[in-house]
Amino acid sequence: LMRKILVSACLSGQPVRYNGTAKSVRHPALDRWRAEGRLVFVCPELSAGFSVPRSPAEIAGGCSGEAVLDGAACIVTDGGEDVTDLFIAGARKALALALDCNCAFAILTDGSPSCGSSYIYDGSFSGRVHPGAGVTTALLRRNGIEVFHHTAIDALQRRLSAA
Ligand code: SF4
Repeated sequence: LMRKILVSACLSGQPVRYNGTAKSVRHPALDRWRAEGRLVFVCPELSAGFSVPRSPAEIAGGCSGEAVLDGAACIVTDGGEDVTDLFIAGARKALALALDCNCAFAILTDGSPSCGSSYIYDGSFSGRVHPGAGVTTALLRRNGIEVFHHTAIDALQRRLSAA
């Protein structure tokens, strides 16, 4: 059975980001995997019921998605609204889809409070980033799904040829 790959919807050109844009990524491997029917697209934030556009949100206090899952940090909008529960709901929906579709891997948009995997914003809404993962990435990893950021598609290719 071919293991599938969960992919952030905004990477496929869907304009679902908070500001109504996409973050399209082109890579020959992505085209091939798509043709093979291996890609499963999800936007955790839309799955949770957010609309487009929506207020930007960051994980507060320089914390990570792991801390959010543990109830030790929250996610807030730039207007100060606590949206933690919705973000966790989106992460759970993404995980359920990944498990349903037999995804062992994911390629997610870096920097997002949901999908980030190597860096996220620090909660100050000043453009500062720090190493860390978003809440969807953290939940996927806790469930054994290997998450690659959107500029690490070569690394996933190598991982798959070694698998
Ligand atoms: Fe893209 Fe993930 Fe943000 Fe949705 S939640 S717009 S898939 S980065």
